[in-house]
Amino acid sequence: MDPLILLDQAVAQEKVPRALAKKVRLRMKYLQAAVERVEKASGLRYPPYYVEPILPVSKSGSEYGQMGVLFARVIPTAVNGSVLILVQFTAALVAFGTKGTMDAVAAHEFTHYVDLVRKLSTTNVTSDEAATTLYEAAFADAERVTPPRLIFSDKPLVSLISRKFKNELADEALNKRVGAGWIAKNLPIRLVGPEENRISLSMDAVAATKFDPAVLTRVAQLREKARP
Ligand SMILES: [Zn+2]
Repeated sequence: MDPLILLDQAVAQEKVPRALAKKVRLRMKYLQAAVERVEKASGLRYPPYYVEPILPVSKSGSEYGQMGVLFARVIPTAVNGSVLILVQFTAALVAFGTKGTMDAVAAHEFTHYVDLVRKLSTTNVTSDEAATTLYEAAFADAERVTPPRLIFSDKPLVSLISRKFKNELADEALNKRVGAGWIAKNLPIRLVGPEENRISLSMDAVAATKFDPAVLTRVAQLREKARP
């Protein structure tokens, strides 16, 4: 999958200026390096990822005018009757994030991915009740991650994640650059409500999914370790 398909489309539709798309393209090497670092540190493969040209912004901030930018997300989708887990990185992150921020974000999203595989692979798919409650549970757990120190052997990467993330990404420099270089320039944003984090996955699709066996093995090992 070409991670820049949607960005190219946005340029063709004149939603995103060509110069900015060029900047993203030039900086993709940092994102790729971040993904490689995560793979090396975890010994696991990164899920498919893509660059989202429209910046998702949540209006959940309690203060007036406060907006939360969703720089990256893990998105489970149903494709051909099974679940495909994708990581969405925004074009704004790639354009304006430092190398360290991209490393931390790629690693943080990976911890969501592993937790989601854990959750979906251990969901009991036999009862009707489960079918109606699955996505709500997934929503409630949207901020659950597998602890980075349990997945990554790269200690500097683990401390980088804890420095950059207080629940979600806390990077004032990036917020400022994106405020000036994206939002103030009226580049495309999309307001997202909390309900949008709900992803409805059918139990049939979950049951039919073949998750990465290496991730399943790791999840099982972590479960063993967590046992008292
Ligand atoms: Zn998160």
